[in-house]
Amino acid sequence: MTGPGHDDEPVVVWSTPLRTRFRGLDVRDGLLVRGLAGWAEFSPFWDYDDAESLAWWRAAEEAATVGWPAPRRSAIPVNVTVPAVGPERARQIVLASGGCRTAKVKVAERPLLPDGTRGAPEPVEAEIARLEAVRDALGPGGRIRVDANGGWSVDEAVRRLPLLDRAAGGLEYVEQPCATVPELAAVRRVVAVPVAADESIRRAEDPFAVVRADAADVVVLKVQPLGGVRACLDLAEQVGLPVVVSSALESSVGLAAGLALAAALPELPYACGLATAQLFERDVAPSLLPVDGAIPVPRGPGHRPSPDVERLTAMAPSDGVRAAWLDRLARVRALAGERLARDTVEG
Ligand SMILES: [Mg+2]
Repeated sequence: MTGPGHDDEPVVVWSTPLRTRFRGLDVRDGLLVRGLAGWAEFSPFWDYDDAESLAWWRAAEEAATVGWPAPRRSAIPVNVTVPAVGPERARQIVLASGGCRTAKVKVAERPLLPDGTRGAPEPVEAEIARLEAVRDALGPGGRIRVDANGGWSVDEAVRRLPLLDRAAGGLEYVEQPCATVPELAAVRRVVAVPVAADESIRRAEDPFAVVRADAADVVVLKVQPLGGVRACLDLAEQVGLPVVVSSALESSVGLAAGLALAAALPELPYACGLATAQLFERDVAPSLLPVDGAIPVPRGPGHRPSPDVERLTAMAPSDGVRAAWLDRLARVRALAGERLARDTVEG
């Protein structure tokens, strides 16, 4: 296995500019650790505190120590993601997607203002123009979903979705139209477009609230925030709804865990949101990108992506960022140890 320059130092920190601003980020950084099973990623976004980052560490521990269940499929169909851009740019993104037959289009975007607050939601006309352009670029056989990231009120969702459904020539589903579970349920009762829950699963105290409230037709699962591939497989079984696996904007070392989950699920009726290496300017290993709309699942001995010295050198963060990650790792690992001890005491 290729070490990151020091074979006795199995922790490295990486940083890369993003090609398109995403989730309010221009730069993404994270940390890789190496265990007996291979390289693993730990990269909670900086707005996750230590307690919330614990699940991300569980996912890294699993990847580094025991690896993942055997794949049931050899390639994972993926969607291209279209941010809140103008129609011409939207068209270009779809055409340059590596043959993706599904597009996820961001809607309900509130632009970040110079003073740091969010402006009014984008007018519906801009969303309609973007969806028409995406349909034009995909052709009649492609599938289109929208993601509102919880940005609408119930009224806004109910008013806009029929218009967007028409502009898209049929929506596959709407992801997280509103912020809360009761709001999702309210939208689902009124609107014909199926509803997918993302934030309501990933950042929820209780992921089953969505099921009890009949609030979704589909759930979006992400390996790191949900504590690993096995934890997601268990959750998928208990939730009993179709699953879409998405990335948390990881390097290709982290994306491999998402592919492992998508490859291990009993059924995979929708394209997954794992084509996000396209958003990175640099990657720690050869990027996991779609070919004819699907990412091949790495398999065989030594198959998992591992970082190489040259790429890591080009992705070296500032001393401050490196120190912040090592600090964070130490804190979250300590927290994991504490939790373990308390679990043991409480039985
Ligand atoms: Mg989402």
